[in-house]
Amino acid sequence: MSDCIFCKIAAGEIPCRKLYEDDEILAFHDAVPQAPVHFLVIPRGHIRNIMETGGPGGAALLGRLLYKAQELAVEQGCGERGARFVINCKSDGGQTVDHLHVHVLGGRPLGWPPG
Ligand code: 5GP
Ligand code: ZN
Repeated sequence: MSDCIFCKIAAGEIPCRKLYEDDEILAFHDAVPQAPVHFLVIPRGHIRNIMETGGPGGAALLGRLLYKAQELAVEQGCGERGARFVINCKSDGGQTVDHLHVHVLGGRPLGWPPG
């Protein structure tokens, strides 16, 4: 989608600190990290949020996003102490960028429950 910041990152029109990419998904460091490790895993295609993954291939795509998220979390040094895997959805979920993304946060203890 032309005015979506994550579509522009996926298209290489906005730079990012890339961790991984393939035909279907992309991972890059968050621009405003909330922990020593904080990166995002996104589909290349414009899907607005997790509640819009109901079409063909949606379950497989979600599986791939989460599987890659945990692989990269281990690569980023979170294998021993763990990490937080978060998908914010719409306004109550705190989503600010309307392109599906998995946050991975680690490198410090994280509080719970969220505020
Ligand atoms: P949300 O609040 O939608 O779950 O998370 C959006 C995330 O995207 C935020 O953590 C924010 O820092 C990150 N973000 C927003 N714009 C950019 C950008 O241009 N580049 C990168 N790398 N991260 C961004
Ligand atoms: Zn998009």
